[in-house]
Amino acid sequence: MNKSYQVIIIGGGPAGLTAGLYCARSRLDTLLIEKGIIGGQITNAERVENYPGFPKGISGMELGQLIYEQAISYGLETVLADVTGAALVRRRNMVSTSEGDFTSESIIIATGSQYRKLGVPGEDTLVGKGVSYCATCDGPLFRDKAVAVVGGGDAAVSEALYLSKFASSVKVIHRRNQLRASKVLQERAMNEPKIEFVWDNVVTQIEGDGVLRQVSLKNTGDARISVLEVTGVFVAIGSEPNSAVWRGLLSLDEGGYIITNELMETKVPGVFAAGDVRHNSARQAISAAGDGATASISAQRFLSI
Ligand code: NAP
Repeated sequence: MNKSYQVIIIGGGPAGLTAGLYCARSRLDTLLIEKGIIGGQITNAERVENYPGFPKGISGMELGQLIYEQAISYGLETVLADVTGAALVRRRNMVSTSEGDFTSESIIIATGSQYRKLGVPGEDTLVGKGVSYCATCDGPLFRDKAVAVVGGGDAAVSEALYLSKFASSVKVIHRRNQLRASKVLQERAMNEPKIEFVWDNVVTQIEGDGVLRQVSLKNTGDARISVLEVTGVFVAIGSEPNSAVWRGLLSLDEGGYIITNELMETKVPGVFAAGDVRHNSARQAISAAGDGATASISAQRFLSI
């Protein structure tokens, strides 16, 4: 059995790192567990231009690193490990990981979510080179360029509308001939001259030589193959929370996101969730950081009772 902590934070993105910063500054004995890259999903963003304090923008990788440095400068302890399970017992929670078991009085879950991928050839190799999962992060890089959005939900239509401010044209590729997005968004998109819909089509391949050049499409009705020349493709087909470990232990919504109140409290006293893993998150780095701060303050209150 490893050492016991006052707080264990799971996840090293903006939510977890900010929670870590606040806990460490409050001199709580805190461990942050991260399984992959410190900085979380934000490290995928080539340029972050909407995080306050960086008027010229900052690379996602650098932003993650800076928040990390700030947190560990106050004594936050971190370990690279995969969380595989947990037992929630008041003030003696146990977190099982690939590096052994840790116990803590409270837990802050900040494991984020991951964008659902298309799973087609070329997608992984062209991420950051034309393939994006976040128009808010990368849209402004496509000024006067032809781009495509894949999906038919609120996210896809919102992204298309946002991209229409920058791009020369936006093609929305949807696998059916009816959008899932809310009517208000649909109407706005239909009235935007730069947006065009490519109905009943799925992406079968993403191609380019170092940078994205074109996507291949297949019609779901007659199986006709066509090619769309674009320099950006934004995949917006939903996301999945990293919450599998908590199924059966905490309340999750139908999408698997952890339900909290505005204090980031879950239904289990001493267990908090922050950032993209929680229900109703705005899914932005800055709101995740805010959630992390709130979760830390709530954990401090819990520990002082
Ligand atoms: P979503 O509502 O689940 O929609 C996902 C879309 O992607 C659907 O149109 C779906 O097609 C399509 N899709 C799923 N898998 C696909 C695949 N493998 N290949 C091609 N297409 C695929 O997800 P979302 O748009 O990310 O929204 C998630 C939640 O956030 C929703 O509750 C939404 O209301 C909310 N949200 C709200 C706003 C807003 O501005 N109000 C913005 C973003 C998100 P089908 O329609 O055929 O299933």
